[in-house]
Amino acid sequence: PESKGARVDRIRSFIRTCPDFPKPGIPFKDIMPIVQNPDVFFDTIALLEEHVKETGAKVDVVAGLEARGFLFGPPLALRLKCAFVPIRKAGKLPGETVKCSYALEYGQDTIEIQRTAVHPNQNVVIVDDLIATGGTMAGACTLLETVQANVVGCLAVVELDYLKGRENIKHDVHSLVHF
Ligand code: 5GP
Repeated sequence: PESKGARVDRIRSFIRTCPDFPKPGIPFKDIMPIVQNPDVFFDTIALLEEHVKETGAKVDVVAGLEARGFLFGPPLALRLKCAFVPIRKAGKLPGETVKCSYALEYGQDTIEIQRTAVHPNQNVVIVDDLIATGGTMAGACTLLETVQANVVGCLAVVELDYLKGRENIKHDVHSLVHF
């Protein structure tokens, strides 16, 4: 069987760096080529699942972050046979919601979750495409703590190690590809 390192290297080769997007000086990592190749997409989800299984955690809910966490979260939830719950930018979800605001480089952003989507003491893994400063993932952790869920892991396909985002996240962080 193929080694984990070889599998990760293949996924890495499907991430494109786009200079000066969305602003001058920002080297944006485009993960869309992963989703456009079914074998690579499948293996990305398989590696995330393998990590969750290795931790031994019983997962009740996969929470995905808008918008690219919605690409990776639902297939992972299907493989783990658990619920998928979206965490969205404020103002998109009907019914009672819980909000969390977090700081951006300039200004702030607010994310929210439906109040009854996650129950107290449920085990949740949070999924996003990429961790940069860690602010979004840390905000999602706060949101889930507010609804008294247990965050058993924070997963990302890509992590920009040089931004030290995981230092802002109190929970276990696992990313497949590191830059
Ligand atoms: P953070 O809050 O960690 O600074 O930023 C992470 C969030 O912004 C994630 O939701 C991610 O989708 C988005 N993001 C920031 N930079 C990039 C990037 O270079 N590529 C991609 N695909 N997403 C990014």
